Amino acid sequence: MLDAKFINAGWLIDGTGGSVRKNIRLQIQNGRIVSITGRDSVDSAEHVTMDFGSSTILPCLVDSHVHLCMSGTEDPVAREKQLGADFDDIQGIISEHIRRHLSYGVLAVRDGGDRCAYALRFRNEYHDIKKTPVDIKVAGRAWHRAGRYGSLIGRFLQKNQSLAEAVKNDPEEKEHIKIVNSGLNSLKEFGRETLPQFNSRELSDVVKIAGKCGRRVMVHANGNKPVAVALEAGCSSIEHGFFMGAENLKIMAAKGIVWIPTACTMKAYSEYMKPGSREAVISRMNLDHQIEQISMARELGVTVALGTDAGSTGVHHGAAVIEELKLLVTAGYSLPEAIRCSSCNGAGLLGIKDFGIISRGMAATFIGAKGDPSKLPDSLGSLDFVCFKGNFINVADEI
Ligand SMILES: [Zn+2]
Repeated sequence: MLDAKFINAGWLIDGTGGSVRKNIRLQIQNGRIVSITGRDSVDSAEHVTMDFGSSTILPCLVDSHVHLCMSGTEDPVAREKQLGADFDDIQGIISEHIRRHLSYGVLAVRDGGDRCAYALRFRNEYHDIKKTPVDIKVAGRAWHRAGRYGSLIGRFLQKNQSLAEAVKNDPEEKEHIKIVNSGLNSLKEFGRETLPQFNSRELSDVVKIAGKCGRRVMVHANGNKPVAVALEAGCSSIEHGFFMGAENLKIMAAKGIVWIPTACTMKAYSEYMKPGSREAVISRMNLDHQIEQISMARELGVTVALGTDAGSTGVHHGAAVIEELKLLVTAGYSLPEAIRCSSCNGAGLLGIKDFGIISRGMAATFIGAKGDPSKLPDSLGSLDFVCFKGNFINVADEI
């Protein structure tokens, strides 16, 4: 049996949301998982055995909402510089962000848009050259209504141009179409809702066009009405979804629409804003409200995918996954369930096959975190290894 390896591990979280298994042995061959057994199974001297008896193996993670062109820097001057950077500068920044994702075990990201479609260009021009195992799905430039929020992550419709026309004639080669359908969350007034930018007919036209070319529609929406019209149109996912309310969550569960709550953005704001300031208080309240909504989503059976909005102020590529996992656990998810939101649910949303679950027959793509599961998710910050299709990667050397 050429290329067979046995990997012993103290604990296994397999990405299905099921309970942690102890003392397991994975057999991998030709890049695939051949078996998962107890560690007491018979040793074979012919095979390489790697021992990670004091580590936890878990599936590679997915961050379903990032902005690769921006770092989470809290320095306004540095943010402005990044926003005005040209592609030559940006490609170095993106490479660094991808390296950070990899170092935290995030092997797939979905970029939620930037104003110059640099993430899309990077993916198309550099991804193969860099040979990173991190899969990048992109939304290019988002669409928003002129005069409304969205210029940071996309472009607005021209006068007399319908959303459907704009999407149909969009030359960008991307997997996801991003529509901005509300404003940002207010940090001045708790729960203030903005009007939808588009109606459900406009959005359902986009969903139809997207379906014909195998694309998915991701909708930035906060507040009851902006989310409701996006759900009515049958979008693939709701991004953020602050203050969407219980009725919308029920519809999401019934229609199988995925929710990416990006709760860690509000945690970051609450820590970044001046202590005791109105903004600090409101962002904390927004966070608490979002955690309640996530709890409800779990009970209602909504598919939640982990996304961090990395690139937002104080939300750092890679590291933010730890924060978001913790918030999912605060909302009532068990650790394996929270991991599933990232790994399995993220892979489903991004359309990545053979990824996100550790089981017999799947690609041998997983990570090892030092210590027992009680050290997670913090232990993602110092991984033992990343194994990509059977090859062990030294994360420090990548990119
Ligand atoms: Zn975003």
